[in-house]
Amino acid sequence: MNQNGKIYLLMGVSGSGKTTIGQLLASQLRIDFFDGDDFHSVSNIEKMKSGQPLDDHDRHDWLKNINTLASKTLATNTSAVIACSALKKQYREIISANLKESIIWIYLHGSKELIQQRMAARQNHYMPVALLQSQFDILEIPNESIKIDISLDPQTMVNTILQETNKSTLGIVGLGVMGKSLARNWARAGVKLSLYNRFVKGVEEQVAEKTIQAYPELEKASGFEDLQSFAHALAKPRIIFMMIKAGKETDVFIDEILPHLEAGDILIDGGNSHYADTKNRITRLEKQQIHFIGTGVSGGEKGALYGPSMMPSGSFEAYQKIEHLLYSIAAKDKNGSPCAAYIGPEGSGHFVKMVHNGIEYAEMQLIAETYAYLRYAQGLDPYRIAQVFDEWNQGSLHSYLLDSTVHILQKKEGDDYLIDLILDVAGNKGTGNWATIAASELGIPAGMITGALFARYVSTLKESVRNLRQTIIPNSKTSQLSIETVKAAYTAARIINHQQGFLIIRTASLEFNWNLDLATIARIWTNGCIIRSTLMEKMMVAFHEHQDLFEYEEIKQEITLLKSKLKAFCISSLEVDLPIPCHTSSLDYLNSLSAMYSTANIIQAQRDFFGAHTYQKMNDTSGAFYHTEW
Ligand code: NDP
Repeated sequence: MNQNGKIYLLMGVSGSGKTTIGQLLASQLRIDFFDGDDFHSVSNIEKMKSGQPLDDHDRHDWLKNINTLASKTLATNTSAVIACSALKKQYREIISANLKESIIWIYLHGSKELIQQRMAARQNHYMPVALLQSQFDILEIPNESIKIDISLDPQTMVNTILQETNKSTLGIVGLGVMGKSLARNWARAGVKLSLYNRFVKGVEEQVAEKTIQAYPELEKASGFEDLQSFAHALAKPRIIFMMIKAGKETDVFIDEILPHLEAGDILIDGGNSHYADTKNRITRLEKQQIHFIGTGVSGGEKGALYGPSMMPSGSFEAYQKIEHLLYSIAAKDKNGSPCAAYIGPEGSGHFVKMVHNGIEYAEMQLIAETYAYLRYAQGLDPYRIAQVFDEWNQGSLHSYLLDSTVHILQKKEGDDYLIDLILDVAGNKGTGNWATIAASELGIPAGMITGALFARYVSTLKESVRNLRQTIIPNSKTSQLSIETVKAAYTAARIINHQQGFLIIRTASLEFNWNLDLATIARIWTNGCIIRSTLMEKMMVAFHEHQDLFEYEEIKQEITLLKSKLKAFCISSLEVDLPIPCHTSSLDYLNSLSAMYSTANIIQAQRDFFGAHTYQKMNDTSGAFYHTEW
């Protein structure tokens, strides 16, 4: 995004006053003025003089000349005012090619009668009045422009333009942990912001103003606590990014802001909303011509502040209008591309974010289980385990979550490791639960996400756990598996976790016709987000070739090699009564997939026995279903 230069492009039919207003605007802004008509070829001018209207072919090179003029101006970090009729959308696209974010379109509009009068009074211009009708015929009014009524006096018109161009590019609603950090990130990227946070008299006042005062980079932002002024401060079409509590609170807020919005405005929901809610909101708001985009945002507070991974979905047309804003703050992948990409239609962005969180649950649980094994089965202290994890983290097992755990395990409070002082009851905010439900509804055995979620639930059953602790004495035997074996087990289980997670996404894509691109999703998860890792980079490559990780030869071979280590880890953990639901789930999954016969024949027979549900027969290619009177 060019942050220093702007092109003020005044458009409208001939005689609407583009030159007069353009010159006045340029002089007040102290920048250059260019009349687009001066960039016509001699043959175009001759054609117009002879009373023939120009066709699209005649105009093409002329519009490209104006694009070159604008590019050259911006390349020197300066601004300019250009007057140019630019009546058709396709003309404006040629002019703004590669410069979209730096061009402010200003449309001078008025009645044909008024313009005719003005043209008749004009002398020495090559455009005959008779050609005016041809201009009105082809005029496509631009939606995204500052619209100025030409019946106003010139200074009022210029004042209105100055007022409108001074408006904020982006509004942010909700200045909690994430909203505040995203605002700071956008401000550093040079985006002009208006900030809003709800107002509770006597409890929570002037939140936006206080946030602006607390962070120097927000100095140029404006703070609001009434929605009307907030909406008024935003350039049209308005772009509003909501970072508030997901659920009914989001719907309540949408109802509050709706009266202040107009057709073409864009509402973006960055909260962790359920994908079905996002789909409903898109449909509901479409009826009022408001675009709604649901976007997953990952990376926590730090990610929001320095570069999150973002997963937007909804109308592609609306997405194109906000892409530059997402790109301006997103983390960058290894090749320098932003970790943000259009995911697909409906609530697919929030769906993908939900699965991201599911994968995250299992990734966290696998580390926790590995820690528990090294600590309780092998007797290593947290500091030594941190060393082991750190070593793994320097190599192919590098991940943000493993890296974080190294720091966690080194932290002391007084003489104690802080980890030993933290209550062993895990919380959750619901996305793991949604991922489990979605996987189940789609018929995908995402046992590792479910295992991780249920491990958190089990940790909350404090009373029953305590009762059992009194009656079942854990096995205190120690185990002697090598660190290399533990590492191999963790490596295998992580691959299976990713295979299951992406399988949920792939299945949803087919089920809902979303046409999701798994390689792109893996790419935008290689940085900025909580599950970024070296493995994710491998996933990105794998999904370029195959839609299922287990079809990828290199991964298949790796899993085959590692399986015996995963099994050894599970046996060893079970021998000392360690709960390792994610590791065992991954091993069960592998065993089920690779078993000569599954147990499903018994299940089918039982279903037919009590419910006459029928079954199919081995090696029977007829597709027939059978029922037996058992
Ligand atoms: P916080 O609790 O820090 O902030 C929540 C924000 O929502 C506050 O500004 C709060 O206003 C506002 N809010 C709450 N209820 C309402 C309401 N009824 N009307 C208007 N505003 C309301 O949460 P986070 O910043 O952590 O999270 C915000 C959203 O981002 C959530 O949907 C969350 O799931 C999602 N998210 C969070 C991530 C994280 O790591 N924390 C990561 C990715 C997404 P007030 O201050 O007045 O209460």
